[in-house]
Amino acid sequence: MAVLTEENLIKIRRHLHQIPELALKEVQTAAYLKEVIASFDQTHLQVKKIPDLPTALLVRVEGSAPKRTVGYRTDIDALPVSEKTGLPFASKNPGVMHACGHDIHMTVALGVLSYFAEHQPTDNLVFFFQPAEESQNGGKLAYELGVFKGQWRPDEFYGLHDNPDLPAGAIGCRMGTLFAGTTEVNIDLEGKGGHAAYPQDANDMVVAAAALISQVQTIVSRSIDPIESGVITLGKLEAGTIRNVIAGHARIEGTIRGLTQVMIQRIDQRLKDVGEGIARSFNAEVTVDLNQGGYLPVENNPELTKRFITYMQDNSDVNFVETKPAMTGEDFGYLLSKIPGTMFWLGVEDDSQLHSATLNPKESAIEAGVNAITGFITARMAE
Ligand SMILES: [Zn+2]
Ligand SMILES: [Zn+2]
Repeated sequence: MAVLTEENLIKIRRHLHQIPELALKEVQTAAYLKEVIASFDQTHLQVKKIPDLPTALLVRVEGSAPKRTVGYRTDIDALPVSEKTGLPFASKNPGVMHACGHDIHMTVALGVLSYFAEHQPTDNLVFFFQPAEESQNGGKLAYELGVFKGQWRPDEFYGLHDNPDLPAGAIGCRMGTLFAGTTEVNIDLEGKGGHAAYPQDANDMVVAAAALISQVQTIVSRSIDPIESGVITLGKLEAGTIRNVIAGHARIEGTIRGLTQVMIQRIDQRLKDVGEGIARSFNAEVTVDLNQGGYLPVENNPELTKRFITYMQDNSDVNFVETKPAMTGEDFGYLLSKIPGTMFWLGVEDDSQLHSATLNPKESAIEAGVNAITGFITARMAE
């Protein structure tokens, strides 16, 4: 097959949209990706499977005069959302939907790969079709399995996320952080329960939890540079059993967001300090448990990102938009903490937000994305 046409790209996207699968269960998706890739010219392609991560797929394109290996990553998983778009090509897997647009991401990656399968690049390319972005940290799993070693190790890594707020086909990016890092927080306060009428014999964890929650509100306002940003949201509080028994235990669950790993570590530390202070002043046992399934911030490499932005700005076919950082998390942050690179947005122009049951990205974004990325990689290889 030749380079994928816009018509083929849309067909592929619609097929992928109909077979969404959750993290680490992307069996149909991986099989379909393999089928499409097998239809490309195989002369310079090499496909690698990862036995311990069976839904992941790596494809290497051998360069003709390689100076480096350029990596490109797409995520492939979907979300536990029941689709409500009413589209003729809506999800056929009940309760699962490509509500984050990873079907668009995969299709763009296939378009770029099909181009370089036909036009041998000078540098080596490695395409990573990554399972489990939404949960289970697929990027980290792959890295820790030693997948990116030897000829499979990119010197630089690129990847995109679709963005309903940007015009269809626009490329968005920024220097610094694109997605915030996240830390999940669990706090347990252990004291001594008792009769409501005898507070002197008990150690009330409702009062201790209230004091802790109030103090936590001072972390962002008093310990963080106002020019930088951070968020702490304590979204869940559980304590006690009934109105006339003093609670001997309380549990608080929340999440921390920050634009740099340094910032997140500072907030983590302050949270532990507050926990220790509350433990002492209420004579309680306070356990602050951090980072259950959090994401590292997506910190763009300064030099590579500057080149990327310059290319996009100078290309008259590209509608480039400088964006603000998003406080949501993205699993690509882990890979970018190991391998320098750039993450960017592809505009898909829609009224619905990511993760919503009515997300309906504009398909004209796909070919625009393929063209912008093949153009960028081609220019990068000439340097
Ligand atoms: Zn998502
Ligand atoms: Zn996503």
